Amino acid sequence: MANSDSTEGETLDKSVEEKWQRKWEEAKVFEADPDEREKFFITFPYPYMNSAPHIGHAYTLSRVDVIARFRRMLGYNVLFPFAFHATGATIYGVAERLRKGDEDQKRALLVAGLPEEEIENFKDPVYIANYWRRIWERVLRKFGVSVDWRRKFITTEMFPPYSKFIEWQYLKLKEMGYVYKGTHPVVWCPNCKSPTGNADRIEGEEARVVEITLIKFKIDDLVLPTATFRPETIFGVTNLWVNPDHEYGIYLLGEEKWVLSDEAAFKLKEQKKDIRPTGERIKGRDLVGKKAKNPVNDTEIIILPAEFVDPNEGSGLVMSVPSHAPYDYAALLDIKREAKKLSSEYGIPKIEIERIEPISIIDLSSEGFGEHPAIEICAEMGIESQREVEKLEEATNKIYKKEFHKGVMKVEPYNGIKVSEAKVEVARNLISSGKAELMYDLSEEVVCRCGTKCHVKVIEDQWFLKYSDEDWKQKVLDWLDAMEIYPEEARAQMRNFVLELRDWAFTRRKGLGTRLPWDKEWMIETLSDSVIYMAFYTIAKHVNQGIGAEQLIPEVFDYVFLGIGDPSKVSNKSGIPKEKLLEMRREFEYWYPVDLRGSGKDLLSNHLVFSIYHHVALWPIDKWPRAYSVNGWVLFEGEKMSKSRGKVINLEEAIEKWGSDLVRITLASSGETLDDVDFREENLRTFESRLRRIEEYIELLGKMKGREIGRAERYLISRLQRNVKEATEMLKKTMTRSAMVRILFNPMNDLKWYFKRVGGIDKANGEVVRECLKKIVLMLCPYTPHFSEEMWSKLGGDGFASLQKWPEPDYSKINEKIEEQERLLSSLIEDIKEIKGLIESRGASTKKVKIFVASDWKYQTLSTLREKRNKEEVIKELMSMEEFRKRGMEVIRLVERLFKEETLPIITREEEIEMLREASDFISKETSLEVEILSEEEAKEEKELNKAKQSIPGRPGILLL
Ligand SMILES: [Zn+2]
Repeated sequence: MANSDSTEGETLDKSVEEKWQRKWEEAKVFEADPDEREKFFITFPYPYMNSAPHIGHAYTLSRVDVIARFRRMLGYNVLFPFAFHATGATIYGVAERLRKGDEDQKRALLVAGLPEEEIENFKDPVYIANYWRRIWERVLRKFGVSVDWRRKFITTEMFPPYSKFIEWQYLKLKEMGYVYKGTHPVVWCPNCKSPTGNADRIEGEEARVVEITLIKFKIDDLVLPTATFRPETIFGVTNLWVNPDHEYGIYLLGEEKWVLSDEAAFKLKEQKKDIRPTGERIKGRDLVGKKAKNPVNDTEIIILPAEFVDPNEGSGLVMSVPSHAPYDYAALLDIKREAKKLSSEYGIPKIEIERIEPISIIDLSSEGFGEHPAIEICAEMGIESQREVEKLEEATNKIYKKEFHKGVMKVEPYNGIKVSEAKVEVARNLISSGKAELMYDLSEEVVCRCGTKCHVKVIEDQWFLKYSDEDWKQKVLDWLDAMEIYPEEARAQMRNFVLELRDWAFTRRKGLGTRLPWDKEWMIETLSDSVIYMAFYTIAKHVNQGIGAEQLIPEVFDYVFLGIGDPSKVSNKSGIPKEKLLEMRREFEYWYPVDLRGSGKDLLSNHLVFSIYHHVALWPIDKWPRAYSVNGWVLFEGEKMSKSRGKVINLEEAIEKWGSDLVRITLASSGETLDDVDFREENLRTFESRLRRIEEYIELLGKMKGREIGRAERYLISRLQRNVKEATEMLKKTMTRSAMVRILFNPMNDLKWYFKRVGGIDKANGEVVRECLKKIVLMLCPYTPHFSEEMWSKLGGDGFASLQKWPEPDYSKINEKIEEQERLLSSLIEDIKEIKGLIESRGASTKKVKIFVASDWKYQTLSTLREKRNKEEVIKELMSMEEFRKRGMEVIRLVERLFKEETLPIITREEEIEMLREASDFISKETSLEVEILSEEEAKEEKELNKAKQSIPGRPGILLL
């Protein structure tokens, strides 16, 4: 027997893993070509080639490989291909910074483990991409992923056939009218001189471009533009707020003189407004006390100081609507408290401040609010000052949402109109009558990967994908509803993202990639060249066998992917043999669509959605992706992994340290939802000890001499069949964590119980245990393929474990009764041991246990209960019988108690007695007590009567003596 404490086992070491990796490769086990079987096409989003793989990648990857291997064993022809992504500005930026001698960049690379001698080479972005790609491939092979490597490729012009494929796609989209050149607000990095996609950001990944209305209040000819998200509240303005400590500039906007923070002026300039500085400046405090005209009704509005006004937000000036904006009300409270001081500081008559009264303009009575919702919520939350920022944010959010969705205007000319509609109309009317301007801003701060703060820029001559197109969007939404998404919660997130998605700027000036075929100054950006590349996998094998980029003319892709054109003509024009073209077409038709795409949750709000967009645009419905499986991120020992803190766990090092199988099984079993998971060495050791026990059991098979198929064997077989059934169902839904309980933990506990039950390993039925271990080893194979191959051969199995048929559950062997009885027996023993422990801890000794099986009427109660839906019916029925009536409350109490049980026992009284009689030696052995089985009626003395009375079906009364 192997030493279970040893960490130098035979099977979990690297030479075993390397041996099987070699054998798989020699036998081309994972190379998949079309055949007559049903196919399963599974993909992992190709990784970006700017680092080595780490545990975070490996989590998603291990889950994808588990599903790939599981489906293969289910009998599908599984294709799991892999490729490498180099498109975009990130790699390019690293090289550029090194060329400029950026020491921070150099240090970052060295800290990440790059050898010093590579720094010089890293000045070339192509070298960087190739460097990491070699490492990725090496590490993935060590990780044991079941990939068909004949189909690998890298994106960008580094691999011209891929560029040809991208060009074809964009020519198609242009032809379809989904691409246009336009003027558009985008999130912009002034340093990279490029739009900043969600994936290019250190901060503000979720930030959106939002519209702000700048309403022109005026002091004579001087315009005070106040920024608001809620133009409809212009009717409730009581005063304006200015930051007294800030210095504003005076700018010419067209012919008008505007007071603006310099930040606001910069933003407007970036948004193509005709704006010029006059050189004049004005302090915020110099505006305080002055009066400006409200453009909608010409009322005079006083300007007051407020510190919450941020010159970086909007225009740096805001209007105050205390009835509907909690911040404004809180600031008004502050001002009124300090009226005396303000009056002397700014020379404002005190009365002017004191007489400011909130003006109610929105009816929110449907939500239970009175005249002034903002005042009411401030009172409710105990807000008394503008400094209570956290509470104010919450209050603002609440009121904003409620008024937007449920509020109704109660001022002319918008009386009776919903706020959500009035908002749009007021803004439109103000802008068209020259009383307001439109400005864009970000919903939250955005910092580019390069460390620069981003802003909204309106760019011209940019190329856009028309994701806002209503028909296109609707098709995407419909498919999102129809396709399989695991877990379900991911669906809503993607849906919301689609609803808000605007047109997408898909080209960049800089970086690696593929040039736009009709406008070569532009490169197609990183997310936009990665939307349908799964289709390229289906033909990459043929391309890699020697089809030149120059042969990949658009007609080739038209034919292969869309079935358009005559293969003979396409062959003539491209120089690709007709036979080859037919084969490529067949291959695409066979493998497409993707059956499952497994991804981390970071791609929910971009790539996974874009991929649907492009599929629905280019292909008919039978080629759209069938299912997505999305998971969270990985923490390491409870901490977030981050490059900046040097906490990233390199996958290759993890494999060196623990071996691939233990890393795989620990990761793949750690989660299956969008929640983040924790990779802990402690968990890995748990798996290690279980796997070693399997090996021990296999070695001990020869010593198992039992031949009988009795209750214990039937129990073991039944449990195993149930676990196979449940694990299979779960893995079909990508539940790699829940399935592991059925694959490893339950069966190992059942085996342990079985060995105890038969009185030791030597009495176990070796054939039954062998069958059981075979199934466990095969079900483990997707998680621990190397270990399973090794064990499979030790068990005398033929061929590769990886290619065996997944165990099929035999429903006829699932025996509910036996499972329940063994469960009852096990908990009875636990109960006896617990009571015994209690008694002995008080210094008393025990030598005997009397077990009282419940009276017959209790079983009758149980069976009545199983037939009826509610308590009243049960009691009524029972009380119609004399023998129950005379027991009265006792019956009612039992019914109450049984109703609280999650599952009701199915055992009969006779079965319970038989089971206990049969197991009495076992109980005796397990508890070291003499055992006597009695029925409730046999109880005599008071002590006995008390315990016997507590018995219910399946749970006998216990008395220890
Ligand atoms: Zn940047």
